[in-house]
Amino acid sequence: MNASRPIRSAAELVEAGLVPSERVGDIERVAERYAVAVTPAMAALIDRSDPSDPIGRQFVPDPAELTTLPEERDDPIGDLAHSPVEGIVHRYPDRVLLKAVHVCPVYCRFCFRREMVGPQGLGTLASDAMDRAVAYIAAHPEVWEVILTGGDPLVLSPRRLSELMERLAAIDHVKIVRFHTRVPVVEPDRIDEALIGALKASGKTTYVALHANHPRELTEAARAACARLVDAGVVMISQSVLLKGVNDDPDTLTALMRAFVETRVKPYYLHHPDLAPGTSHFRLSIEEGQRLVAGLRGRISGLCQPTYILDIPGGYGKAAIGANTLRETADGCYAVSDFRGEEHRYPPDA
Ligand SMILES: *Cc1c(COP(=O)(O)O)cnc(C)c1O
Ligand code: SF4
Repeated sequence: MNASRPIRSAAELVEAGLVPSERVGDIERVAERYAVAVTPAMAALIDRSDPSDPIGRQFVPDPAELTTLPEERDDPIGDLAHSPVEGIVHRYPDRVLLKAVHVCPVYCRFCFRREMVGPQGLGTLASDAMDRAVAYIAAHPEVWEVILTGGDPLVLSPRRLSELMERLAAIDHVKIVRFHTRVPVVEPDRIDEALIGALKASGKTTYVALHANHPRELTEAARAACARLVDAGVVMISQSVLLKGVNDDPDTLTALMRAFVETRVKPYYLHHPDLAPGTSHFRLSIEEGQRLVAGLRGRISGLCQPTYILDIPGGYGKAAIGANTLRETADGCYAVSDFRGEEHRYPPDA
């Protein structure tokens, strides 16, 4: 097997020592249903001696994925409900998603768009569809920000990315272009001068939202890739999913958020896992999530605090669901909780 290309099948997972050979049949059945890819950088991070390794859990298929619960949905966050033209999701007035590609360098086992991404997914936007998507943005002056997601937009070649950026740069009312990606972590060498140059366009501000879920993903190579982006003037924010068996404990979340901040990536969102099919083994309760997030407040710097987010099923958008620290008291004042959980009256008694 060639260690310089991604693992894409059950047989290759066995060959790489990531799946015991007696389980190859089960894994094949999962791979028939949901796309599989593990990049060399991620395969190298997985501890083969630990069956519950948090990196392996994110990328190595699990037969539990074949169990779909009634509340799980093919389109968990309701993208299709708000898609005026192919490739565009316009849910909030001032920003649109532009889904140029539906492939990723890795396929996360908990992916919220798992029914749309992958080799059998929606593919790459055809050039006439891309023309219509760009025309839609140009015709909507309220669109201040374009968010490239997918799929992972940084799988596009620097040439195609810069073409796209030039087209967006020609639209005056678009001020911010944001890329949601896993590439700096899962394929850090891809972040080279040509690609970074392609992400920038004069007069526009480029943001890169980095998706990572465990502190071990922030390897030396990943940190160096982020440093190249930030040094070039790209602003970086983070995006993580709170996942059972990956990062659902205070020490791991602390290390993850600190790793982002040390890397000049500002923690942005910590998502409650979406109701994607075959992902119930990753979901914890909202109460557990709130407890974990509240625990971070007293423990680590304000720079390290993400917002805990639920994407409301059906296309209603995102809601911040962090623990409520404020309640009204019977006498019309407030009780506010400090980071230790102790309540204080507001305003305080005279
Ligand atoms: C998540 C999402 C966004 C981005 O939301 P922010 O809160 O700005 O990060 C925009 N549009 C859609 C359709 C989304 O699902
Ligand atoms: S990188 Fe994002 S879109 Fe791609 S498989 Fe992972 S979660 Fe899904």
